[in-house]
Amino acid sequence: MDKAQDSKSWSIRDIIPENHPRRESLLIREKLIEAMEKSILVPQGLIAHGRGECFDYLIGEKTQNFAEKAIEAAAATLLLAKTPVISINGNMAALVPEGLVRLAEETNAKLEVNLFYRDERREKVIAEVLYKANAKEVLGVGEDASTVIPELFSQRRRVSPKGIYIADVVLLGLEDGDRTEALVKMGKKVIAIDINPLSRTSRTATITIVDNIIRAVPRLVEKAKELKSKNKEELEQIVLNYNNKNVLAESLKFIANRLTQLSLSL
Ligand code: ATP
Ligand code: MG
Repeated sequence: MDKAQDSKSWSIRDIIPENHPRRESLLIREKLIEAMEKSILVPQGLIAHGRGECFDYLIGEKTQNFAEKAIEAAAATLLLAKTPVISINGNMAALVPEGLVRLAEETNAKLEVNLFYRDERREKVIAEVLYKANAKEVLGVGEDASTVIPELFSQRRRVSPKGIYIADVVLLGLEDGDRTEALVKMGKKVIAIDINPLSRTSRTATITIVDNIIRAVPRLVEKAKELKSKNKEELEQIVLNYNNKNVLAESLKFIANRLTQLSLSL
């Protein structure tokens, strides 16, 4: 470890040149490392993020049309929901806490902490991050996570009886396939933000937003604001016209075409 890394007196913002082509991505990594140091994130969260970065390369690091379609359907679904819940894990709390709180406000959704590697301290730290981002209520902390999702054997099966357990729509991000499947089996509509169109979560969810959570959450907030002026029938029409299989297929075709184009330009 060199001397600069030994001290906390330096800022990574000063070390990475302004014109570094991967500056944003490096700053995001740093954010995650800081979150790990504060126990918001576990080291496994860093690995999950690395997998995501790879897919971001493949989709061209932009919100593509297939994601826009899913974002519109997701916003409409959240606005139509009776008991929507946004499920929060370490990566989400580390990267987009304010955006998630705003999305909850715009769509009248509840916020609930749900962790793969659950421990009470981390639950509390994540809830604090959300309160600091202006959340009014955070479910799933301590005794509140007292109900069990059937057919799920990790700690993520513990949910709030006021939140995920009774939710008709659950929005989640960077989630494991097992729990997505269990929630769908319970009859819930699941909106997943997962940049890997091949993951089990992406393939099981009702609506899959194949995009980086950093871009998808602010876009969802904008979309929810915009769609609020529409009536129930118009929102239902958006949901009815949406086809998740087609959107996933579009994302794969996009990647395939993009790679072909790139290979021809060499
Ligand atoms: P599954 O269990 O659904 O097959 P997995 O085991 O491959 O998924 P996990 O590590 O459980 O994946 O969850 C991380 C998922 O989130 C991966 O599909 C990864 O590509 C995706 N991901 C990582 N970083 C981001 C990000 N910043 N935005 C959106 N998705 C991301
Ligand atoms: Mg998994």
